[in-house]
Order: sequence, then structure tokens, then C-alpha cells
Amino acid sequence: MPSPDTPDAAAVPDGALPLRDALGRPLRDLRVSITDRCNFRCTYCMPRERFAANDAFLPRSSLLSFEEIRRLASAFVRHGVRKIRLTGGEPLLRKDVERLVAMLAELRTPGGQPVELSLTTNGSLLARKAVALKAAGLQRVTVSLDALDDAVFRRMNDVDFPVAEVLRGIEAAQRAGLAPVKVNTVVQRGVNEAQVPAIVKHFRGTGVVPRFIESMDVGGAQWHRDQVVPSAELLQRLQQAHVLVPVAPAHRGETARRWMHADGCGEIGFISSVTQAFCGDCSRARLSADGQMYLCLFGRRGVDLRGPVRDGTTDAGLSERIAAAWQQRADRYSELRGTAAAARLIPIRPVAMHYIGG
Ligand code: SAM
Ligand code: SF4
Ligand code: SF4
Repeated sequence: MPSPDTPDAAAVPDGALPLRDALGRPLRDLRVSITDRCNFRCTYCMPRERFAANDAFLPRSSLLSFEEIRRLASAFVRHGVRKIRLTGGEPLLRKDVERLVAMLAELRTPGGQPVELSLTTNGSLLARKAVALKAAGLQRVTVSLDALDDAVFRRMNDVDFPVAEVLRGIEAAQRAGLAPVKVNTVVQRGVNEAQVPAIVKHFRGTGVVPRFIESMDVGGAQWHRDQVVPSAELLQRLQQAHVLVPVAPAHRGETARRWMHADGCGEIGFISSVTQAFCGDCSRARLSADGQMYLCLFGRRGVDLRGPVRDGTTDAGLSERIAAAWQQRADRYSELRGTAAAARLIPIRPVAMHYIGG
């Protein structure tokens, strides 16, 4: 968790006062889901029994076009967003994604700075796309990788996709300069927890940063708290084989707690959304593939931005809509998880992760 004396990125002068929500949190990050479709059926995200039929997905016409995404992203940047992450579904499935990256790379903050542009992918198409993405202006990628063991990996993606191809994608991203490449592993008790030491060993000394995520109650799959492997437990296990020292957060709102190999051979991170919620510094807004703004991963419903974009609303009108939504934001679901208040917040079926982006 960031310490109280961590520099507040919101305080950095760059020409605009960031918007603050009802709990005083600035708007700094935007995650954009550019498709709700995916070529994987990860059991914790898009279980195949719920995501078999085509009608489980948005029709093409309801997706935001690249021009619409750029227009909205630009409105968010005027309100203080400094980092944009493309996600999904699987963002590399969206045709000509490089063209969107190039369009977003042209955005400038009111102070004239480019925004940080990154992308989260399952890595299946990364070996083919890494060079083009870098050339278009992408800075970094995060690759999801739940196991190194091929059989476990194929079981978890549930489409029999080989792990070797994702590892090739990670290497291609590194060679292309999309660095530092981060690797996200969602750890589930009894499913892939035994993979964690192998993942740490594999990436030690490579510059790739593995991060272990507590599995969350989002999206399409059944979730039980006993599936969660607490980060503290993982850390303790890893410390039996590695000397790890904590790294201070680089900025407020950092989701991962970072640790470094004491011999300088790299870093690992823990994203403890369940056992150590970090809502207090959450500066993330999300834009779904069909243009709904979500204020929290566990948001009940989105604020429609596609309608106004298509109705010819002016830039000022769009800005007002975004500002009004953010200023009312009091979401902090992970801090409330397990309480009666949280139970009231979550609709019967939570919004799926692939729809608003992880
Ligand atoms: N398809 C891309 C991928 O897998 O990287 C991007 C979208 S995916 C929804 C984004 C991230 O959300 C992935 O790292 C994935 O592992 C994570 N995720 C999905 N469901 C999750 C869950 N139930 N708990 C924690 N993380 C989850
Ligand atoms: Fe697809 Fe990513 Fe969800 Fe897996 S986690 S099903 S790769 S969107
Ligand atoms: Fe942010 Fe909501 Fe996650 Fe809390 S639960 S960290 S407010 S997205």
C-alpha cells in the first residue's frame, strides 16, 4: 500500500487540475475495453458454459469505433487521465488495433505531454503483433500467464492453447522494446498455486516482472473465497527460496505491492485485491467496448457515453458528463467486500470482467 508520504501523481503540475471524486481520489487512469470477445475461455473469467454462443457478445455495431474511442479518451485526458490501458476481451483480436494505438499515441495532456499507453493481452497473438504495436507508439504490455506447465495452462485457458506460444509473445515484446513486460498470474487454490515458484524462477534475471493476483469475484465464473490464495501466504512461500526486499511504490494508486530480488535479479509484485484492498487510492475509470463508463470494476451500471458521442454532443457536453459521474463516485467495493453494504452494491450478476476490462 502506498505510504502517506508517497508523491501524489495528481500533484504533478501539467496544465490541468485533476477531477476529484467524492472521496477525494483523482481521475488518472483509463482502461478501455476494445472488444468483449476473446479466443480463450479462462475458467475464472469466461467459463465456456456461459460464453459458448455468439449472442453472449456485443454486436459489431454497438462497439465504439476507433474515432469514437479517441474522442472519449481525449475528453478523459483533459480531465486528468495520464495513463491509458487497452484491454478487453482480447484486445489484439480487434482488427487494426495498431491504428488505434497510433491515434491514442498522438493525445497530449493540457501541459503538452504524451499519455502513457499500455495494453493487457493473453499473449496469443503477441509474437505476430509486438513490432507493429511498438512502432505505433505502444509503450508497455502486460501478458496474462497462469501457468508454465503446458497441461495446466491448456486446462486454464480451456481452448487447448499452448504455453510456448505465449512465451514466444513475451520474448517478442521484450525484443520490440515494450518494456518492462509484466506478467499477470491469477492464482487459484489447488489449480495453479504450485506454478508460482516456477514462474518466479523462470523470469528471474530476464527483466520480465511477474505479478500474482488474488482471484476476484468479478465476471462470469462462480467464486468462493476459499479459492483465493492470499498474497501474504505466497510471499512467505517464495521467501523460503528467495531473498526478497520490499520496493517503495513509485506513485500513489499503484495496484501491486512490489518486491525485489536482493541480488538485483529483478522484481515481483502482488495484487491483493481481496485481502488488502487498495480502493483508497483507486484512480481508474473504465470504458466498456460499447462506450459505457464504469467507476469501479464492481460498478452496478455504466454511464452511457456512446449515446452522446453519436448524438453529436459537443466536447464540452461530453466533458461535463464525465465530470459529473466522477465527482459523485464513492465506490470502494473491495474495501467493503463481505459486508452487508457490499452485498447491496453488487447486482445479481456482476458486470463481466471481459466487458469492462481487467
Ligand atoms: N484478455 C486479456 C488478458 O487476459 O490479459 C485482457 C483482458 S483480461 C479480463 C484482464 C486481466 O484480468 C487478466 O490479467 C486476467 O487474468 C484478469 N482477470 C480476469 N478475471 C479475473 C478474476 N476473476 N480475478 C482476478 N483477475 C481476473
Ligand atoms: Fe480472455 Fe483475458 Fe478473460 Fe482469459 S482473462 S478469458 S484471456 S479476457
Ligand atoms: Fe477501484 Fe473498485 Fe477495485 Fe476498489 S473495488 S480498487 S474502487 S475498481
